[in-house]
Amino acid sequence: MDPVLDTNQEIELECINCHTRVALNRRVAGCPNCGENILEARYDLGSIDVAAWREKLRKRREGLWRYREVLPIYDSNNIISLGEGGTPLIKSRALAASLGLKHLYIKDERQGPTGSFKDRQATVAISALKEIGVNEIVVASTGNVAIAYAAYAARANIRVWAFFPSLTPGDKMREAALYGAEVIKVTGSYDQTKEIAAQFAKAKGIFLDRGIKSVAAIEAMKTMSYEIAEQLGDELEDGERWRTPDWFLQGVSGGMGPIGVSKGFQEMLGFGMVDKLPALGIIQSTGCAPMVEAFNRGQRIATPVENPQTIIATLATGNPGRAYELLYDYVKLNGGHFTSASDEEAFDATVILARTEGISVEPATAVTFAGLIHMVREGVIKPDDVVVVNCSGHTIAVEKQILGDHWEETVELTDKDKVVNVPEEGLLSALEQVESQVRRIVIIEDNVDAARLIKRILQARGNYDIHVAHDGAQGIEIIREVRPDLVVTDLMMPDVDGFKVIETMKNDKIMAKIPIVVVTAKELTAKERQRLSGQIDMLLQKGSFIDEEFIDSLVSRLH
Ligand SMILES: *Cc1c(COP(=O)(O)O)cnc(C)c1O
Ligand SMILES: [Zn+2]
Repeated sequence: MDPVLDTNQEIELECINCHTRVALNRRVAGCPNCGENILEARYDLGSIDVAAWREKLRKRREGLWRYREVLPIYDSNNIISLGEGGTPLIKSRALAASLGLKHLYIKDERQGPTGSFKDRQATVAISALKEIGVNEIVVASTGNVAIAYAAYAARANIRVWAFFPSLTPGDKMREAALYGAEVIKVTGSYDQTKEIAAQFAKAKGIFLDRGIKSVAAIEAMKTMSYEIAEQLGDELEDGERWRTPDWFLQGVSGGMGPIGVSKGFQEMLGFGMVDKLPALGIIQSTGCAPMVEAFNRGQRIATPVENPQTIIATLATGNPGRAYELLYDYVKLNGGHFTSASDEEAFDATVILARTEGISVEPATAVTFAGLIHMVREGVIKPDDVVVVNCSGHTIAVEKQILGDHWEETVELTDKDKVVNVPEEGLLSALEQVESQVRRIVIIEDNVDAARLIKRILQARGNYDIHVAHDGAQGIEIIREVRPDLVVTDLMMPDVDGFKVIETMKNDKIMAKIPIVVVTAKELTAKERQRLSGQIDMLLQKGSFIDEEFIDSLVSRLH
C-alpha cells in the first residue's frame, strides 16, 4: 500500500473497440465482448494528488519502475530488472544549430541494458509473464526485442524461442543466442516470420508475445513519456512542472513506441500532470513505409508492403495492421506527421550524428534523424518547437556497411624501421606520405556549433586538414599562413564580415586564386548578390548542411 496512491487498486483492461472492461488477470486473450485483440490498461488512481506523487517520485531511484503506480504489475517481487529506463535526455548542439532548432533533445535509449528501448518492453513483459506463471515464450523479432527478451528471460528463468527473418544481422541473432535463446532463422520476410512463430507457438502450446496486442509492451513504451515530461520539466520549467514536447519522433516499424508514448501523455493529461499532448513524427524507411503511404493517400487502413526494400531489418514490418489505425487517429486528432527516409539518407545521418554529437546510433534511429531533417526543411517542425527524438543503437552490426573499406590509415614500417633504434627518416617519410594526401580547408564561421558541424561533415568525407576561424580578421590571418585549397565562409560576422574577407582575398595575389564557398543563413538582397557574383564559387543556405549535395559540391571544389 502506498500512502499517496492506493496501489492496491484493481488494474483493468479496456477494449479499444467496444470499451468493455475486464480485470487484468491470467492470460486475457482479447475482448470477451467483441474479440478485439488490443486492450489498454486502465489505472483507477481516483483523486490522485499530483503534487504528492511528484514529490514521491523525486525521492525514488532513477528507472522505469519508479512509475510503478501506472505499470501492470501487482507484486513488486515479480519485477525482473536490469536497471532499465531513466535514460538521459541529451540536448543537441551541432545538429540543432545546423537545422536552426532551439530545443532539440535526444532521448538516449542506447543506454539501456541491451542498447535499445526494447529493454523497457522486456522488463515489463517478462515481469508480467513471471507474475502469471509463464515459463516458456515464443517471440518473433527483427533483433532488438529478441535480444532484450532473451536477457530478461535469462534472469527470470523463462525459456525463449526467438524467430528472426533472414534480414536480421547475424550479430544480433548471436547476441540473443548468447543469452540462451533458441534462435530460429526464417528465410522470409518479417511478416512471414511472425506467422511461422505464431504457428509454432500454437502447435506447441507456448505463450506468444504479440507485440501491439500485448498490454505490457504498450505500458512499457509509455514510461518514455513519463520520463520525457519529467526531464523536460527540469530542463525548461526549472522542475516546477512537467512539460510535454511539441514533437516526439521515432522510426517506426510495428508502431508500439509512439502508441505507448501517446498513451502515456494522455494519462498524464488526465491526471493533470501535463497540459497538452505532443504531435507525433512517424518516420519509416522508404523501402518499407506502409503507414506513410497510407497517410499520404488519406487512408486509415494501410496496404501491406509485401516485399520490404530496405536493409534496415528493424523497420521491416510490411503490415502494420491495427497499430497504424491507432496512430492515424491520434495524428488526425492531436497533430503529427508521417514521412519516410531512404537507407542512404539514414547512413549519412548516422555518420553526421556520430561525428557531431558523439552519438552512434543504429540505422533504425538514423532513419528518424533523416526524417527530422526532412520535417525541418518542409517547415513542419518550426525553429521554436521542442523536439524529442527516440534514439537507440547497436551500431556494431552495421559499422562495416557505413564505414566501407577505407576507414583506417596504415603506416607501413619496413623491417629496417622495426629495429630498436627507429631511423627517424623512415617514420617521417611514412607520415609525410599520409600527410601529402591531405587537402587544406579554412572555415570562417562565428557560430561555434555551426563551424564544428561543417568541420565534422567534411572530416567524415575525407582526409582534410581543417582550420577554423571565428571571425573575419582571424580568418584572413589563417588563410595567409596555411594557404588552403578552399575557404568556406559565413557572411554575417561581427567586425570583419564575409564580404570584407572575400574582398581582401580577391585583392591579394596569392589568396585571389583560392576557391571560396559562402554559407549563409541570410536571404541575400539583390545588391549583395551583385557584390558576390564572380567573386565566389558557390553559395549555400544554412540548414542545407546535412545535404548530400552540399557535401558533394563542397568536396568537388577541391579536386
Ligand atoms: C523496435 C524498434 C523500432 C520500431 O519500434 P516500433 O515502435 O515498434 O515501431 C525503431 N527503432 C529501434 C531502434 C527499435 O528497436
Ligand atoms: Zn470489445
